[in-house]
This record gives sequence, C-alpha cells and structure tokens, in this order.
Amino acid sequence: MTKLLATSGFEVTVLDNLSTGHLQAVKWGDFIQADIRDAAALDKAFAQKPVDAVMHFSAKSLVSESVAQPEVYFDNNVVGSRQLLDAMRRHSVERFIFSSTAAVYGMPETEKIAEDHPTRPINPYGETKLAVENMLQQYAVFGIRSSALRYFNAAGADAASDIGEAHNPETHLIPNVLKSAISGGSNRLKIFGTDYPTPDGTCVRDYIHVSDLAQAHLLSLQHLDLTEGFNVFNLGNGAGFSVQEVLESCEQVTGHTIAHDIDARREGDPPMLVAESRKAKSVLNWQPKYSDLNGIIESAWNWHKNQSF
Ligand code: UDP
Repeated sequence: MTKLLATSGFEVTVLDNLSTGHLQAVKWGDFIQADIRDAAALDKAFAQKPVDAVMHFSAKSLVSESVAQPEVYFDNNVVGSRQLLDAMRRHSVERFIFSSTAAVYGMPETEKIAEDHPTRPINPYGETKLAVENMLQQYAVFGIRSSALRYFNAAGADAASDIGEAHNPETHLIPNVLKSAISGGSNRLKIFGTDYPTPDGTCVRDYIHVSDLAQAHLLSLQHLDLTEGFNVFNLGNGAGFSVQEVLESCEQVTGHTIAHDIDARREGDPPMLVAESRKAKSVLNWQPKYSDLNGIIESAWNWHKNQSF
C-alpha cells in the first residue's frame, strides 16, 4: 500500500508499534513508532502535519490466536480502533479506510458471499472486526466517511519483490507451503482438517493478491469523496481453492514436492469462504490483475525463495 501510495503521488506516514511488523518494510514514507492505543502518541503524530486520510491496517489477525486470547484481540482491534477514530475526530480527519475481513460472515449460507450476507462471526477475530464496522457506521455522525474492505485471503508479494510476507512464526497457508518447498522436506506442512464438507475435505478459500488489495484501497479512498457515511466492499477473486489445490499449485510453480501431514482441524476455521465481489468491481471500478492462483503463488515464491526463514 505504501509503495502504491508513494508512486501515485501521495505523501505517506506509517505508524506502527512493530509488534509484528518490520522496520525494514517501511520503504516508502516517514515512520512513527507508536501504538494506536496510546492517545498522546496519536495526538503527537496527527499534529506533525496535516492528514487527509487514515488507512487502518494495524490489528491482530490470526483466527486461532483470537480463540485462545480474545482479550488481546478486543484490546488491540476494538479499543485501538476507537482510540484511532477519536484521535481523528480531535484532529478533524474525516476519511478512513478499514481492513475488515471475510471472517465477519461466519458460516456461509450461500456458495459465494455478498456484502448483504448475514454477519455472524464464529471466532473472536471476526467479532472484533465486525465491532469496528459497527462503530464506523455510528461515527458517521461525527462526519467520518469510511469504507470497510472485507478481505478474503490476502496472498502473494509485490511483483518486483520489493516487499512480501514476513511473519514469525508463520501461520498462513501459502508461505507455509513454500517454506516446506524450500526446506527440501525437513519442514513438513500440516494440513488442518480433511473432513470438511467440501469437495476434497480440506478448507476452501478465495486468495486475493496484496497488490490488487492495495489498488482497491486507493480506489475506495477516491470513492469516499463521492459518498457520505459508511461503505462496505468484499475484496476477493470470486474463486475458491482448497488447501489441497493450493498445495498442488505450489508444487507446479516451485517444481518441488511438498512434504505434508494431515492434522486436526484448526479451531475457528469455517469450511469455505468465497467472495461475491461484483460490488467493488462495479462501484469502485476495481479489476484484480492476479485472477489465477498460480500467478499469485509465483509472486509469493519469487519473494520467499530469497528470504531466510
Ligand atoms: N492451513 C493449513 N496449514 C497451514 C496453514 C493453514 O492447512 O499451515 C489451512 C487453514 O486451516 C485454512 C486455510 O489453510 O483452512 C487458510 O489458512 P490461512 O491461515 O492462510 O488463512 P485464514 O483462512 O485463516 O485467514
């Protein structure tokens, strides 16, 4: 996002507490190390220079961790977002783009999930994101215009490999599969559950490239000036791939066999999450460029094979 903003002529400031982020990833824009729950630090940051818009990515975002530590999730995600929004009010900043998630929907009632699908999260992570969406709807009364972008499964890396995924420990499927490919079999992938009600028994997800997500943020920022109040958009490709299919794609792209074991289901995982994303395409004029899974995996592979795990 910072790369796209900076190369599109925006002046960028990154604020991060570096609890999971990396200083070396701040390649575009200024950097302030602060926690969004620290009101004084936010006041200082907003006072430094005029701010036109806030894009809020800072959250705890692991489903299974949220099941084990819900209090951490409510504190970071809900209390932190409230602090950020209240600091915006104090400094008369009115545009807000929020990273939401497909996890707000819970168990899908339709094959593809549209924005008007019921929101009944089945894990604390989804609950915290939905709580912030609800807050945003109410904060329209203060003149805050916002968009919640419900990401499906963010994946891939920058095409020039300038930036990519770097979690420690890594929990996401594609990097874990690639990690297994790199290790030559010593690092075995675990497949969490093969007894889901899906065609091959493994969970189905809709993988969307991070650069396509970034493009949607830029478009929705422009769109905020045409609307009032709160908007919500799904961001996905509209195609579902099972864990087994992801593994096979990774084998094709990398040319390595992926050593793997079958493990128990991971708590909080719904069997299938696939987006109906016509709204973002028609309203924002969004066109994802990486519509095929192999292309997404190839960009991730180009990044991961040059990283040390
Ligand atoms: N998964 C897996 N092994 C892993 C990581 C993930 O089988 O090492 C499965 C996980 O249970 C889910 C899917 O892959 O069904 C995608 O998980 P990920 O953590 O990448 O994203 P999430 O869907 O939780 O946002």
